[in-house]
Amino acid sequence: GFRMGIVGLPNVGKSTLFNALTKTAAAQAANFPFCTIEPNVGDVGVPDARLAKLAEIAGSAQIIPARMTFVDIAGLVKGASKGEGLGNQFLANIREVDAIAHVLRCFEDDDITHVEGRVDPVADAETIEMELMLADLESIEKRLQNIVRKVRGGDKEAVQQQRLMEAAKAALEDGKPARVVEVDAEDLKAWNMLQLLSTKPVLYVCNVAEEDAAQGNALSAKVAEMAAAQGNSHVIISARIEEELSQLEVDEAEMFLSEMGLEEAGLDRLIKAGYGLLNLETYFTVGPKEARAWTIPQGTLAPQAAGVIHGDFEKGFIRAETIAYDDYITCGGEQPAKEAGKMRAEGKAYMVKDGDVMHFLFNT
Ligand code: GDP
Repeated sequence: GFRMGIVGLPNVGKSTLFNALTKTAAAQAANFPFCTIEPNVGDVGVPDARLAKLAEIAGSAQIIPARMTFVDIAGLVKGASKGEGLGNQFLANIREVDAIAHVLRCFEDDDITHVEGRVDPVADAETIEMELMLADLESIEKRLQNIVRKVRGGDKEAVQQQRLMEAAKAALEDGKPARVVEVDAEDLKAWNMLQLLSTKPVLYVCNVAEEDAAQGNALSAKVAEMAAAQGNSHVIISARIEEELSQLEVDEAEMFLSEMGLEEAGLDRLIKAGYGLLNLETYFTVGPKEARAWTIPQGTLAPQAAGVIHGDFEKGFIRAETIAYDDYITCGGEQPAKEAGKMRAEGKAYMVKDGDVMHFLFNT
């Protein structure tokens, strides 16, 4: 599955947010399967209003959303790359996630200490990014030394790695994250294998006071500007509101949201933004037993999409019967869609589209 790491300086609201995330997921366990793998790891359902509609039409007994894993990575402080705080442990945790949700303090409160003694989310973002860049630089320098002999021996892979690491090193020494390096398609695999921390996409989570949850504030506006300049995304959330929401029943939560002038819970927006940041898409399988969402990277072909359900589906792939979500809804279900000629038979070269309702045929 896809993993999102929650990072941020101490006292910015990470735990409050993570607890709300996992509590909400646990409370809605019937619809949003949740399990705690470790105390700081939570699996949440990806909210998708289309699922309920599909389930209603098909009379599905159960709804199973796509899942996303959140990892609460505590302990990042200035100096982490030098082993301060949880240091290396922390950095190893980040290496394993697909994207970073970076929580930034955008609320004023004299009772809550800020580690740097001032509230400045853009400076905080830079502090953390700097630690990631320093860690990358250190690991690159080590690895460059380690492959010198292989490179001399003419090992093609080592030569490629060296070239990519030199490019990353140049960017980092220039004070830029490794994500600014432009990588050719044929280098992409080797580049990703370097597992550099400063190449991970970042979602900035602006934690604002309750009264700023709907509109944001001057601090979150600065973060938005920074995120846009970097090509990253941001969401505005009040961790305090999410904490309260996580203790309410669904009906109460909806009332509370509208009272606060919010259309959607911040956590839902956070999960969706993470999904978008990772360039993920959803396809559905729908039947009387369950309506289920599956996650694929954009551009996935039908056999590989089938492989997300089971390896055998990919190996023995014959074809996919496909109905676009809108056709499924407009026609009022699988059978009527079929009769209207909206069910397509698609082969191995079919690129699955977001919202496709799929039925795979395969050899066993
Ligand atoms: P972490 O160290 O980043 O995990 O931060 P916590 O989630 O433990 O939050 C630190 C403190 O800040 C706690 O006392 C929270 O209740 C408080 N806090 C979190 N979000 C907000 C907020 O939006 N406004 C205010 N005033 N306090 C908050």
